[in-house]
Amino acid sequence: MRILLQFPEGLKEKALEYSRKLEAEGNEVFVSASPTYGACDLAIDEAKAIKAEKLVHYGHAEFHHVDFNVEYVFYTVDAPMDILERSLEQLKPFRTIGLVTTVQHVHQLEKAREFYESRGKEVIIGRPYGFAKQKGQILGCDIGSAASIDSKVDAHVYFGGGIFHPLGAVLHTSKPFLAIEPFTNTIEFMDHYREKYRKRSRGKIAASVDAKKFGIVVSTKNGQHNMNLAKLLKERIESSGFEAAILVSNNVDFQSLENMREFDAFVNTACPRIAVDDITRIGRPMLSANELMEVLTLREKK
Ligand code: SF4
Repeated sequence: MRILLQFPEGLKEKALEYSRKLEAEGNEVFVSASPTYGACDLAIDEAKAIKAEKLVHYGHAEFHHVDFNVEYVFYTVDAPMDILERSLEQLKPFRTIGLVTTVQHVHQLEKAREFYESRGKEVIIGRPYGFAKQKGQILGCDIGSAASIDSKVDAHVYFGGGIFHPLGAVLHTSKPFLAIEPFTNTIEFMDHYREKYRKRSRGKIAASVDAKKFGIVVSTKNGQHNMNLAKLLKERIESSGFEAAILVSNNVDFQSLENMREFDAFVNTACPRIAVDDITRIGRPMLSANELMEVLTLREKK
């Protein structure tokens, strides 16, 4: 069988090892060298271009159904859990805690639950909204496992690497949020990010109130494509008396957007985290759809 392999950046170093294994089984194997952001970003066009019969996507769970033969190969990581003992000090004031993690460690959540319950805590593990598939799992764009239990817990606990995944959950919850990073051996509350990002959002809205020309960014990535939203936003902008164009690309490239000097502000309909994490990569405001609505409402009141 002709197969295209796709790896997230952290697993690309294993490309040769995996392709040789599949070749030894009699397959004709190719490897995608494009950047890969998640299962929202399947290399289906590349697979079709080389007439592959299957895409093997490593490191992420299924995001949503696509009309192509895709095999998802999970990559679980056993993170050291002895750090949980140290977190008890920070969690002393909280009786009921919610646990979340990434797909790589979701198999360790039950062990974490057992640990905290044996120390007198009540533990709740929530369900994602839909893009993430497993209980307690969060993605940068699916924080349901934390947000759905926010009213029931005294604090949230994230166990896993980095702050990309928990940051979305922090911004969409209201309770104290403890991040336990077993690889760097750090434990810290992330609550201060709420005010920081609220300020950033208010800054973007203030910087857009005089904008007249908007570029609406649409990604062609399978799990990020939202042309319907882009069209609605364009109509809404135009009905307020301003101009808008829909800008289509597979990978949102900030330098290319910078070169589009006509636009006073951009609106993101692709990965929702672009309008949160990447706004310092461009000199003009990059608004979310909700922020655009606030801008237009403010303009109408003027
Ligand atoms: S956060 Fe963005 S990159 Fe990650 S899975 Fe969601 S849409 Fe894809």
